[in-house]
Amino acid sequence: MIVELISVGTEILLGNIVNTNAAYLSEQCALAGLSCYFQSVVGDNEERLSMTLKCAMERSDIVILSGGLGPTEDDLTKEVAAKVCGRKLVTNDMWMERISEFFAARNITPTENNWKQAMVPKGAIVLDNPNGTAPGLIMEEKNAKVILLPGPPNELIPMFEASVRPYLEELTPGALYSQTVKICGQGESAVETAIKDLIDAQTNPTLATYAKTGEVHIRVTASAETVKEAKKLTKPVVKELKARFGADVYTTEEEVTLEKAVEDLLLANKLTMTCAESCTGGLLSARLVNIPGASEVFKSGLVTYSNKAKRKYLGVKKGTLQKYGPVSKQIAEEMVKGAAAASKCDVAVSITGIAGPDGGTKEKPVGLVYIGCSVKGKVTVKEYHFSGSRAKVRDSAVAAALTLVRRCILEYISDLTFRKKS
Ligand code: ATP
Repeated sequence: MIVELISVGTEILLGNIVNTNAAYLSEQCALAGLSCYFQSVVGDNEERLSMTLKCAMERSDIVILSGGLGPTEDDLTKEVAAKVCGRKLVTNDMWMERISEFFAARNITPTENNWKQAMVPKGAIVLDNPNGTAPGLIMEEKNAKVILLPGPPNELIPMFEASVRPYLEELTPGALYSQTVKICGQGESAVETAIKDLIDAQTNPTLATYAKTGEVHIRVTASAETVKEAKKLTKPVVKELKARFGADVYTTEEEVTLEKAVEDLLLANKLTMTCAESCTGGLLSARLVNIPGASEVFKSGLVTYSNKAKRKYLGVKKGTLQKYGPVSKQIAEEMVKGAAAASKCDVAVSITGIAGPDGGTKEKPVGLVYIGCSVKGKVTVKEYHFSGSRAKVRDSAVAAALTLVRRCILEYISDLTFRKKS
């Protein structure tokens, strides 16, 4: 089945907001086994929206529109879609009540235009919206199903999950099952090259690679009559991917992030961790703290941005700073040793680099980052060259630090096992 997305909103066209709804919906539709051939962005303009919708309904089986369901004059998605489908707008009593309750609960008197949201195209399926006053709508036309969703992601995503996904699953015959193999420390092209033969030969299951900052995810999706059968089809492919990428596969579970994998590893091996950050300014600590229960393993994080702070809190030597500069292998090493000593944690990580856009030189360009890791006193320092904006360099440094700490812990465990055996 072919699905098409139309994002409505002049602010998307002007670049005032990033179209995250389209990214979310495309990913979800692919997961539901739908092929998305076209996506459009249209401003709040009746004529152009009408033209785009008519065209989409001719070439696609399902058209999902997002945005423009609000109460104001420029919100016209519902009105235009109803007109294109030849349906009148009628009052939905249940939604009138919802709007009354919504405003009463907030002690606000609704304005005249709020009631506009209780008008729905005749015969449309009304989708609940627990987070807002615009209902989602489905119009089942002869040539296409037209689905209308509100623009705010905090309304669109829960509505998609609760109502649209089950609706789409009923439309698509058979069952789908996906599993994601998450790889850290390898680039997308290296990963794609390593599985080129599998990609070339793919039929069912299919493989799709997604590049993330410092990670690559491979989604393996199989279709069969039942989920159980689809699961069975994905199993050997996932096994093969694990064999090819070895320890770089940090999980095959959807909800496990890289920081979660690191914390699980620390917990399983009864290790505690600290970090000393310079150019990432606490980003690594923030990612670690994202995980509930992080305090079991993550004990402290220092942001030592200035040379003075590096000296004061980590015992970095003045001579080393003068000789090698704050962004150097030697300073990353002194930082990580200082952090380990001050915190008495088993594992310490240090990050020092040039995030840019200024501050780079020919010898030390923007994007140069040194990351140190100490596991029970064994210190490793690596040099990295990242590209992109200041934010991208900092995010890449954090992902690389998580990857490095994971590798160093795995090495420590394997050394320990080897020593125990011999
Ligand atoms: P509302 O009832 O809040 O007016 P709506 O359905 O009319 O919702 P819009 O007015 O189009 O939606 O957008 C409301 C807000 O939702 C935007 O300001 C923006 O923050 C967010 N939004 C809309 N479309 C998108 C999109 N495609 N991607 C990400 N965010 C979006």
